[in-house]
Amino acid sequence: MKEYEFTCSACGQQIDVNETMRDAIKSNGCPVCATAVDESEFSE
Ligand SMILES: [Zn+2]
Repeated sequence: MKEYEFTCSACGQQIDVNETMRDAIKSNGCPVCATAVDESEFSE
């Protein structure tokens, strides 16, 4: 499964995620601060 790095633009948290986690974060917001995120905050 593909891995991505999520960097929250609101709180600065960096998290390595897989596709399932990425989709969950896009739906639910940052797991740390709950701010809504978008595609640009994930890098491969
Ligand atoms: Zn955050």
